[in-house]
Amino acid sequence: MSDQGAVERESMDYDVVIVGAGPAGLSAAIRLKQLAAEAGSDIAVCVLEKGSEVGAHILSGAVVDPRALNELIPDWKEKGAPLNTPVTEDRFYMLGAGGAVRLPNFFMPPLMSNHGTYAVSLGNVCRWLAAEAEALGVEIYPGFACSDLVFRDDGSVKGVVAGVFGLDREGNPKPDYQPGMELNGKYVFIAEGVRGSLAKKLIARFDLAAGREPQKYGLGMKELWEVRPENHHPGLVTHTMGWPLGMRNGGGSFMYHMEDNLVAVGFVVHLNYSNPYLYPYMEFQRFKHHPLIAPVLEGGRRIAYGARAISEGGLQSLPKLDFPGGVLIGCSAGVINVPRIKGTHNAMKTGMLAAEAAFAAIAAGREGDELTAYEETLRASWVHTDLKRVRNVKPMWSKFGLIGGLSLGGLDMWTNQMFGFSFFGTLKHGKPDYACLKPASECKKIDYPKPDGVLSFDRLTNVAYSATSHEEDEPVHLKLKDASVPISSNLPKYDEPAQRYCPAGVYEVLEDESGKPYFQINHQNCVHCKTCDIKDPAQNIDWQVPQGGEGPNYPNM
Ligand SMILES: Cc1cc2nc3c(=O)[nH]c(=O)nc-3n(C[C@H](O)[C@H](O)[C@H](O)COP(=O)(O)OP(=O)(O)OC[C@H]3O[C@@H](n4cnc5c(N)ncnc54)[C@H](O)[C@@H]3O)c2cc1C
Repeated sequence: MSDQGAVERESMDYDVVIVGAGPAGLSAAIRLKQLAAEAGSDIAVCVLEKGSEVGAHILSGAVVDPRALNELIPDWKEKGAPLNTPVTEDRFYMLGAGGAVRLPNFFMPPLMSNHGTYAVSLGNVCRWLAAEAEALGVEIYPGFACSDLVFRDDGSVKGVVAGVFGLDREGNPKPDYQPGMELNGKYVFIAEGVRGSLAKKLIARFDLAAGREPQKYGLGMKELWEVRPENHHPGLVTHTMGWPLGMRNGGGSFMYHMEDNLVAVGFVVHLNYSNPYLYPYMEFQRFKHHPLIAPVLEGGRRIAYGARAISEGGLQSLPKLDFPGGVLIGCSAGVINVPRIKGTHNAMKTGMLAAEAAFAAIAAGREGDELTAYEETLRASWVHTDLKRVRNVKPMWSKFGLIGGLSLGGLDMWTNQMFGFSFFGTLKHGKPDYACLKPASECKKIDYPKPDGVLSFDRLTNVAYSATSHEEDEPVHLKLKDASVPISSNLPKYDEPAQRYCPAGVYEVLEDESGKPYFQINHQNCVHCKTCDIKDPAQNIDWQVPQGGEGPNYPNM
């Protein structure tokens, strides 16, 4: 029985059903098949992906630590995995409005070094992993959004509903209506990435976050640029902090020089900011005009844009990872190493560990119970060490601002890495991000410069570079629990911050002929970043999956 009630659907049975073809889901699928091959048995595994193809929803341009890949596919180089650009140089800068101070590399804890990592297109890495998985017999279904869960009579998770198509705006069937299918498994792996819509339901239903710190988030925005050859330094990685966010707001930038004159330039804004006038997208745009950044981009062209939330709670915020019938893996659990802005290696490893727990359970004739071995092995693994060493960086930044937070955070990373201890224990995060906004009446408006159309772009023009599409006549997948809240409460109190925090211009406050404000949701623009679900101060916006194949189509490069 699903939460959507008694719709008649066909069903298919697998040993393991995996929701999401990101690094976590694909690594889990590969590991399951490897284990079966080693045992001389077989295991039926399917992976469901809401993007139109594998990689379509994965923001290109990342620096990846190959640690998990080395374990999963040790001969990945010979097999042609698209990790072609080793990182050759790391640079860290503190920015002021007109200048930059380079922080000496010896000042940074060794764990911050990118030695041995690769600047890659993460979308292409996922496409390659998907091909490896398919070669091992994994069934992968792109264009299939998992919109609901299926439960056994005992309350355990049995499967998911995927592939519902053809509903009109009011939710009524159109002529091309398809009710979708139930994909059932002995175990279901939730690998939806940050703030997954099914993960959110499961965390609430099974109270998986009980006793944990609230999850914290950032909004990451990225552009992919093709730059002039003379501005391109393959393997150069630059991180900045400071301007334009200032001393109190958390966040910073990254610039990764990849292959073929491609540079990924991105900006993260921590979503615990308090001024509702802050406009993350415009912070990113004005950042590109800084004298350290502009010369790299000048004469180049932006070829893609995208945005995605990033989990920042780390170790303190990890929920319980198993529930009856399945597990949370990857960033659905939240395994980003915040100061390194890296989660791919940890996401892959969680998938591999969950696969090992599920394979052993299935081999022992079990199904539908809790895979407690997964969390136990994770806590004994290098993922735990990776997250533990940096656990205080985010709470320190939140409490003490940029300078205090980073100095103490740096010291803490040093002592954790060198001596395995912290002077501070494990710090708490405090409030969830949605509770951090101050009333607009207590805050200053921020005057952002107009984009020049050369280095900086208005939001809607940039959204076109994410190749996002959604049908007009389908249920709006951004559900307001109470339709009156944006105008009756958020507007007077916070000047309705959704107008600004959404990096795709989905939310607008407009006026009718009589001058009365109304709230408009342009769901077609949604790039599936999930920021609205996280930051709305009334927690009134529920991000649900639209039909499969919609959303961004990040380029295959
Ligand atoms: C701006 C930014 C920069 C980053 N830079 C780096 C970096 O340089 N290095 C690094 O290591 N990490 C980086 N990360 C983090 C990295 O992207 C994540 O840690 C990693 O992608 C997590 O993998 P995942 O498989 O858990 O989730 P994801 O990669 O998010 O994959 C989840 C997949 O599930 C699909 N999905 C979600 N819900 C459903 C559903 N209901 N039905 C069907 N399919 C669904 C999605 O479409 C997606 O394809 C960055 C993140 C951001 C936002």
